[in-house]
Amino acid sequence: MYLDSYLCQCEWCKINQYIKAATEVHHIIDVDEDWNKRLDIDNLQSLSHECHSRITMERLRAKQKEAKANQPTEEEILLNKAFGLE
Ligand SMILES: [Zn+2]
Repeated sequence: MYLDSYLCQCEWCKINQYIKAATEVHHIIDVDEDWNKRLDIDNLQSLSHECHSRITMERLRAKQKEAKANQPTEEEILLNKAFGLE
């Protein structure tokens, strides 16, 4: 946080040149995905509370979308049943 002069470092604020106080630390690569990166300075980003919430929500939505895409379609389920592949 000190390195970022306590300002929000998200893409959105950078592009728009917003100046927001960073109050939270975000992991760019989620600790769920790589626990070893939780203390890696390159993986940390200072963010304002507002931006951190937004990024977390976006990530969650992307994950839900991915999970949905991996689910078999209605048609695939019927075909699997018909062919006893369930
Ligand atoms: Zn921001």
